[in-house]
Amino acid sequence: MKLDPIVALATSLQTQAISICRLSGDDAIEIAEKLTHLNLKDQDHRILYGFIHDPLTEETVDEVLVLVMKGPRSYTREDVVEIHSHGGIYVTQKILSLIIGAGARLARPGEFTQRAVLNGRLDLAQAEGVNALIEADSEQSAKLALNQLKGALSELNEPLKEELLGIIAHIEVNIDYPEYDLEQITRTQLKPRVLSFRDKLQLILKEAQSGQRMREGVKTAIIGKPNVGKSSLLNALLNEDKAIVTEIPGTTRDVVEGTIRLDKVTLHLMDTAGLRESEDRIEKLGIAKTKQIIKDAELILFVVDGSQNLDEDEKAVLKSLDPQKTILIYNKKDLGSSSDRLEISALNKDVKSLIKVLNERYESDQFVFTKPVLNNERTVGLVRSALASIESALSAIEDDIAVDLINLDLTSAYEALVALTDPETNVSITDELFARFCLGK
Ligand code: GDP
Repeated sequence: MKLDPIVALATSLQTQAISICRLSGDDAIEIAEKLTHLNLKDQDHRILYGFIHDPLTEETVDEVLVLVMKGPRSYTREDVVEIHSHGGIYVTQKILSLIIGAGARLARPGEFTQRAVLNGRLDLAQAEGVNALIEADSEQSAKLALNQLKGALSELNEPLKEELLGIIAHIEVNIDYPEYDLEQITRTQLKPRVLSFRDKLQLILKEAQSGQRMREGVKTAIIGKPNVGKSSLLNALLNEDKAIVTEIPGTTRDVVEGTIRLDKVTLHLMDTAGLRESEDRIEKLGIAKTKQIIKDAELILFVVDGSQNLDEDEKAVLKSLDPQKTILIYNKKDLGSSSDRLEISALNKDVKSLIKVLNERYESDQFVFTKPVLNNERTVGLVRSALASIESALSAIEDDIAVDLINLDLTSAYEALVALTDPETNVSITDELFARFCLGK
């Protein structure tokens, strides 16, 4: 298939040191030759020095470096040429228009990556990884995206598909090719294989959750009784150099939310400040409306006034909280300090000790970087749907349903897995069967 040459700016259109125009497609090299008068055909993965000329006037437009990457050793697997010019807006636009005049067309957003997918250099999951990497705004999410870019999802998916297909193929051969001498698979034999498959999908979804946590933030509730300094703490955290505030809607109303990124963790803060006092013990601490938030929270920052002893209400609430997810913070250390506790002064924006504890706490969440995880709605949704089909197969096994009907569920699960990395592929189990069993020779 001949792919028409496309061009796009790889850098933004603004006054800057260097601009890069990227060309890809069958005639990319000819077009660049036309404009530079350089012999590029015989070059590969080399940078050449030259000038861009306007073919109509023969005027010199700019002094450039031309990088030639012949397919398939290029991002798109097609011939790719990059023209590095001076970064002025006028010059850049001029070069872009000369390239278009010479026969290329402006690429659609994402079209270079689309071609990389079409040409088999990247699978769809990897392409999503490229996008995620570009959009990553923290070290963690960049690592996760890079992992996906390296093909982690496909690596994860291939053995899964293989395993499931093994089961399906066995059943289908039993049904469709009784003359083929393969032992009949029974529900009893099926059950452990399907169960073990379900466990694998569940684990993958669990890992995906931790990846999601990294992107969206650990759900964090700041709680404590009125005037201990919850709002001040929120402000101090949001003022941290490392913190990037992404949203703080509903500032004065019941719950204030905001996302901050620290070195090792992103926190999605749900501040419960500003709730009214009441006779109810819990509500006194300003958390009545937020019992649910406490329940949902993965992390609780329980703030107390360090210049005073904990009162009975605070002790009771502290006891009711899950110690695994609670950090007790003594605020107002400027008014009174003790060495054996985590102290901050929210008012003075002195929260380094807390930041350190938070970074250490999530430091070891490394597993999400090294293990392949799904990192978007599409992929998580597909694995969920595969899991649902597997669950349905399991209950069919329990209910003594005929094996060929159980096979329908297994096949839907397989289709969902195929769609993970090859959404364009029409699954033909029969083809796979033939390949596997050499049926019909
Ligand atoms: P909230 O009701 O828990 O949200 O508490 P605020 O953040 O509104 O703070 C209540 C009062 O305590 C305010 O007057 C703050 O200035 C004061 N405050 C907060 N943090 C500190 C601190 O670290 N040291 C001192 N001395 N006062 C503080």
